Amino acid sequence: MKHLATPGILLLSLMLVCCGARTDVPPQADPDRRLLLIGIDGAGWDAMIPLLRRGELPHLEALVRSGYAARLTTMAPALSPVVWTTIATGKRPAQHGIRGFLGRDPDTGEGVPVTSNMRRVSALWNILSVAGVPVSVVGWWVTWPAEEVNGTMVSPYAAPGQTTWKGSVYLDGRSDQTWPGDLLARIGPTIEQGVGKAKDSFREIFPALENTATPDYLKAFLKDMLWVHVSDTIFRDIGAKLLEEDKPRFAAVYLGGVDVTGHRFWRFAHPRPDEWPLTGTQREAYGDSLNRYYRWTDDAIGRLVAAAPPGTTVMVVSDHGMELAHQRDRPPTDWNQYPHEISGGHTRGPDGILLFSGPGAARNFDPGWWDNGAALPRLGEAGHPGVLDVTPSLLHFFALPVADDMTGKIRMPMFSNEIAARSPARIETWEQPGGRPDPTPMSSPRMDEVKERLRGLGYID
Ligand SMILES: [Zn+2]
Repeated sequence: MKHLATPGILLLSLMLVCCGARTDVPPQADPDRRLLLIGIDGAGWDAMIPLLRRGELPHLEALVRSGYAARLTTMAPALSPVVWTTIATGKRPAQHGIRGFLGRDPDTGEGVPVTSNMRRVSALWNILSVAGVPVSVVGWWVTWPAEEVNGTMVSPYAAPGQTTWKGSVYLDGRSDQTWPGDLLARIGPTIEQGVGKAKDSFREIFPALENTATPDYLKAFLKDMLWVHVSDTIFRDIGAKLLEEDKPRFAAVYLGGVDVTGHRFWRFAHPRPDEWPLTGTQREAYGDSLNRYYRWTDDAIGRLVAAAPPGTTVMVVSDHGMELAHQRDRPPTDWNQYPHEISGGHTRGPDGILLFSGPGAARNFDPGWWDNGAALPRLGEAGHPGVLDVTPSLLHFFALPVADDMTGKIRMPMFSNEIAARSPARIETWEQPGGRPDPTPMSSPRMDEVKERLRGLGYID
């Protein structure tokens, strides 16, 4: 275990830019481009299309109708820390070094939750910082400790869980939660209010929590799930606040509840009468939980989009979709014996989503998608998942060069004619010599708590 040492390289680069040194000045981004990137863990077209068809996801529908939409292919197994890091770097796990929920402590050999310093390469927010773009990154996987960026970063307390994000963390007064450290004081009231708001909306999404007939295993799960919803609520509100007050030209906000809800409630939302039939009571009690979480997330997207400055282009991506995933051949007679049982999964890497709308985006809407989601264009080929292509495509959007050491490529069909016609610039690498911190896994006083929550949510054994 080691203690954090923040690299000063980025600051040095920024000084070189501001002082006009001619050598070492990195390419600068198109000043007219603004982007809001929203990450929805586990969102998939199969779950969304019935809701879109019924008009129940108005904000997502507006993005679909006005912009470019596609299925985004992913890796298998699709592990969130790995895929979200791939999305943010345009590099494969072997390059970026984040290979699962846990890394290994070199001293004890024990598995410890992955931390931002373990990422061996620059992420989009590092690159944009160097290229003169003010950024704001909220809640993204594997961003604790918060990184030194040209703007703000709010990390989940200890990146992997997204679940220990709660008021008491801030009472701990750890400044490595945010960049800059004093941002913590500015967002403190938003966090405090978010906890209360989340408890109210959680009851509306999951009325089963207060139903005496709900079995213990589901109640135990919902207690863990509450903290994911607190995270989502707080990330939504911090994201909107920073967009309104700071007007960053690049903002990224991560929301994780769709994934966690899908894992547990898939079989109730998408029952298969031929196997694991539901009782009428189960349908009534849990059948709409996943849909309600999608509707809550759609509302959050609407609020973030509304908070973004005029002229902001919006991209919504997910790391994977979800599908029925039984862990055993037939339903257990007593579910309480399987408190961590899941019924939705993404081990095989079902397609995620990509939406891109606003200035610079193409339009490809086809009403036929409402009947046949398979008709959506699919980004990615065998051996080259589309999640690799988000960062290179966004660099092109900002008129920045794509690096030769990035595996991902630009997906031109998502762009308007003007941007698609621009010939892509290349650069050897965006990596700065000595630009990444020591990758040794870090200790944190809450690592055991994080591991316990990951276990409770069924992420690790
Ligand atoms: Zn998941």
